[in-house]
Amino acid sequence: MGKIMTLGEIVVEIMATQRGQTFLEPGLLAGPFASGAPAIFIDQVAMLGQPAGIIGCVGDDTFGVLNIERLKRDGVDVSAIHVIKQATTGSAFVTYRKDGERDFVFNIANSASSQISPAHVDAQVLKDCKHFHVVGSSLFSFRIIDAMKKAIEIVKGQGGTISFDPNIRKEMLRIAEMREALRYILEFTDIFLPSGNEVTLLANAADEQGAVREILDLGVREVVIKRGARGSSFYDASHHVDVPGFVVEEVDPTGAGDCFAGTFVTRRLQGDASETALRHANASGAMAVSRQGPMEGASDMVSLLAFEESAVAFES
Ligand code: ATP
Repeated sequence: MGKIMTLGEIVVEIMATQRGQTFLEPGLLAGPFASGAPAIFIDQVAMLGQPAGIIGCVGDDTFGVLNIERLKRDGVDVSAIHVIKQATTGSAFVTYRKDGERDFVFNIANSASSQISPAHVDAQVLKDCKHFHVVGSSLFSFRIIDAMKKAIEIVKGQGGTISFDPNIRKEMLRIAEMREALRYILEFTDIFLPSGNEVTLLANAADEQGAVREILDLGVREVVIKRGARGSSFYDASHHVDVPGFVVEEVDPTGAGDCFAGTFVTRRLQGDASETALRHANASGAMAVSRQGPMEGASDMVSLLAFEESAVAFES
């Protein structure tokens, strides 16, 4: 089995324990939890028994150890995680509004993760990689963009495939070079995994169908749209299917999209039909939101199957 790899931020997350709690005054917090969108994605891949690895940087501190030990425990190859002296591991602090919306305080832009550079990417590091995953929010510096492009070119050059979860921070789109980088990645993408409202962000068409057609015309083979509790949809050149999500109590939404993507990509590479992979991915997203902590809901296949058997599908 070829390896699935990714590149990007590895951070800790610390969150409020009550809805409506803010950081304007002291309150009870939970964490630190292992986190970072690419880290959550790759942890989910490893949980499904697929060889998995991540290229990234952490600081020479306890948060770095927490992440490395956690990823290692779940089966991720951590040999391409670099411990940077004189840098700290990034962190994200989260509060939940009464309506469930989240507010974040990020300490990532100047953390160890910002040190990722093309020097960390080469043919040796990627030698067993048959699939490489890109998360848009990881592209927060031009140095990281160059590292990502280098990885994509190497993996494509050795016959591998690429998936891309745009996870776009809107402010990125206002910077022409960032927008260009996202379009560049899209042109190399085999599996594109936007959230519902992101589908049109990188296309000219204003409606979903038009945007999907435009993206497939670029050469993207599969477009998978995440729709929160409602589930997800799959499009390729000849086929479209919607698969409902599973009903769960949402405890913590962070990480659902990454667990979903990890499961969809892994199961497709392992040979599942699109609809089957979508069902497993929906289960993975649902299990992720039902646990506190972004990586705590990553699940193995036995748990996913047991969940699917007992869970009720969402009805619109
Ligand atoms: P995030 O960026 O917060 O990780 P996302 O926007 O990329 O999330 P979502 O659509 O929120 O992705 O979630 C991914 C998948 O997880 C959904 O397509 C669905 O299958 C599952 N999911 C998400 N929220 C829920 C929920 N409340 N109940 C059940 N399943 C959910």
